[in-house]
Amino acid sequence: MKLICIGRNYAAHIAELENERPTDPVVFIKPDSSVLPKEQDFYIPEFSDDVHHEVELLVKIKKVGKHIDPKFSNLYYDEIGLGIDFTARDLQSKLKEKGLPWEKAKGFDGAAVIGKWVSKDRYADLENLSFQLEKNGEVVQDGNSSLMLWQIDELISYVSKYFMLKKGDIIFTGTPAGVSKVNPGDVLEGSIEGESFFKVNVK
Ligand code: ZN
Repeated sequence: MKLICIGRNYAAHIAELENERPTDPVVFIKPDSSVLPKEQDFYIPEFSDDVHHEVELLVKIKKVGKHIDPKFSNLYYDEIGLGIDFTARDLQSKLKEKGLPWEKAKGFDGAAVIGKWVSKDRYADLENLSFQLEKNGEVVQDGNSSLMLWQIDELISYVSKYFMLKKGDIIFTGTPAGVSKVNPGDVLEGSIEGESFFKVNVK
C-alpha cells in the first residue's frame, strides 16, 4: 500500500508558504510505515522543532489502474476519508533549499493520520465538501474541496500516469490554508461536514 500525496492544491496554502503556483500537481509518496496506528498518540520526532498539521481529504483506491481517463476515475474509488499529512517544516525547508527530496520531512513514522472511511455516495457533491481541523477545540483549518486546483478525478488520472494505482492505495489531496505548529498536549480533531473523522493526541 502506498500513500500518494498532493502538494500545493489550494491557492491560499500556496500563498502562506510563499510557494509558486504549480502548472502540474506536486506529487510525493509516504511509505506505509508512516501510517499512525489507530488510536495511537502522535509523538513529535526529536529531529524537528516545527511539525505542522496539514488536514487533507483522502481517497481510497479500490482497484488496479494506470493511465486512467478522468471520466473513468470515479470507478476507482468508493470511499472518502480525512487525515493529517504531518510535516517537519523546518527539515522540509532545509531540504527544499538544497533541492533535495522531502521524504524525511514527510514520511517519518506516524506522519500520516488516517481517519475513518465513509462511502462517497453519502455526499451529493464531492467537489463541494467542507472539512475542518480543530486544535484544542478551536478551528485552525477550514477547507472546502471546491477550492482545490485539481479535483479528485483529475488527481487520480494525473497520478496514474506515473504510478500504477493498486487496491488500498490512499491519495492525500492536499491541504488548505491554516497549517501551524503542533505542541505536546495538543488535541487535533478533524471533521467533514461537521462529522468527526479522527481525533489525535500530540505527545
Ligand atoms: Zn500535505
